[in-house]
Amino acid sequence: MSTEGAHSDRKKYEFRKVIEDLKNFEGSGTQLVTIYIPDDRQISDVVAHVTQEHSEAANIKSKQTRTNVQDALTSIKDRLRYYDTYPPENGMVIFSGAVDSGGGRTEMVTKVLEEPPQPVESFRYHCDSNFLTDPLEEMLTDKGLYGLIVLDRREANVGWLKGKRIEPVKSASSLVPGKQRKGGQSAQRFARLRLEAIDNFYQEVAGMANDLFVPKRGDIEGILVGGPSPTKEEFLDGDYLHHELQDKVLGKFDVSYTDESGLRELVDNAEDALADAEVVKDKAQMEEFFKELHGGELATYGFEQTRENLVMGSVDRLLISEDLRKDVVTYDCQSCSNTDYETIDRRKATPEHTCTECGTAIEASDDDREDAIEHLIEIAEQRGTETKFISSDFEKGEQLYNAFGGVAGILRYSTGV
Ligand SMILES: [Zn+2]
Repeated sequence: MSTEGAHSDRKKYEFRKVIEDLKNFEGSGTQLVTIYIPDDRQISDVVAHVTQEHSEAANIKSKQTRTNVQDALTSIKDRLRYYDTYPPENGMVIFSGAVDSGGGRTEMVTKVLEEPPQPVESFRYHCDSNFLTDPLEEMLTDKGLYGLIVLDRREANVGWLKGKRIEPVKSASSLVPGKQRKGGQSAQRFARLRLEAIDNFYQEVAGMANDLFVPKRGDIEGILVGGPSPTKEEFLDGDYLHHELQDKVLGKFDVSYTDESGLRELVDNAEDALADAEVVKDKAQMEEFFKELHGGELATYGFEQTRENLVMGSVDRLLISEDLRKDVVTYDCQSCSNTDYETIDRRKATPEHTCTECGTAIEASDDDREDAIEHLIEIAEQRGTETKFISSDFEKGEQLYNAFGGVAGILRYSTGV
């Protein structure tokens, strides 16, 4: 079971990486082609569709765009030759097009992603100046959709908890006057105006929440409401929310902020109500890590230390930040046969390195570098270590990224490394 989880996490990671690259590409015209193919669609149908698009592309006015679109379609047809009657399980997605590679030049890119984590639901042909990655990103989102509302009488924010990600969507601020009335105003009139303003604001917040959540009410597992007392009580007891949303409220929670950070605080404080949510499972992993770090002997962190423990087979769970984007360079010293590893930003050039054993300067080429996460997962798989990707949308997850280099582990036994 654990290896299956690691496999799917790894696959998700590989998909995410490809998507991040694809999203950066741009075509100078409407010339980047994306095709989503469900697994029950015959390849011959797809080829026929692509052929049709190819002949229709002959009508494109700009010669450059026409050529680019037709080249993309030809490249897609070439790739489709490798498949028999049907695409692999869950279908596949093909991206192809001439992307800007800087300095007015273009480069042809073709990527085929097979067996996405969820089935491709319908055939889609898309030609635009960007690749269509949204449906694929949706598939990579962890299960569990929750609506979030934080409010006090002055400010409100609504958003989503999608799997492990907290996504702020809308905010509002109110014109509710403070408790002090101005001179000359009657106390009664002031109180009435103030209550009206509060009521208006609650209606506005509910309107925001209804617009966002009602269309998704079938998918939402629950709604969390946060704020100081008595605001959240007034808001919920006043039946401002759409009645179907009201039924989905899992609870109300004290939070001290009602800006975007209040959404995070809300998720933190609603831990019990969210016991099934992915982010809470991540939190439990990090709690265990910190407990070992401060009082136990089973914590390891940082790329090199964790790697060393992994190689020894002493790591029970490998914890990797979902935001980690690094390469690792392997430096083999010719003078003393020591091997060092150094992690670097994925976009940076390979630096020279000084051997930690003998001080010899070592140069490395691009062949000596690889994706740091893939490097670690490969060792983990060989040693039967479970890999967990940890969101940085909560405090301890953020610490994994910032303070521990995005890599940590919980050990099976103490190793003293
Ligand atoms: Zn050396």
